[in-house]
Amino acid sequence: MADERTEIVHPEPTANWETRGYWEGAGRGELVLQRCGACGTIQHKPRGICATCLSGDLEYLVAAGTGTVYTYTVTNQNQARGFAEACPYVMAYVDLDEGVRLLTNIVGCEPDRVSIGMAVEADFAVQDRDDGEAFAVPRFRPVTT
Ligand code: ZN
Repeated sequence: MADERTEIVHPEPTANWETRGYWEGAGRGELVLQRCGACGTIQHKPRGICATCLSGDLEYLVAAGTGTVYTYTVTNQNQARGFAEACPYVMAYVDLDEGVRLLTNIVGCEPDRVSIGMAVEADFAVQDRDDGEAFAVPRFRPVTT
């Protein structure tokens, strides 16, 4: 089913040494997380050290891209360019199957269809950029089976 809603036009992400792996992964259609080689913690947001044990021994992994809505809100008013046209839209925290929570938005359904515990899967808003970067913004849509 086609999504007839106007989508958010996200600001272009900028990458630094901590976040580049995440944004580049999204550009490939992959949800990239970090795993600590010392204690095994999987974390998001991307950092230079493990938030649990402070080790710098981090590796990247590609998440399954599936999870459930932890909580959400329907935004009916936002004057910011790129967001105003998309109202109402859904901002949500999604619990990924890997155990981390991600702030994102839900697309692919009417806002009143979103519910806590709803199964969702990653989707990527690819951006046209003129700086040579190939980033995308992860967002989620209801799992369709
Ligand atoms: Zn650790």
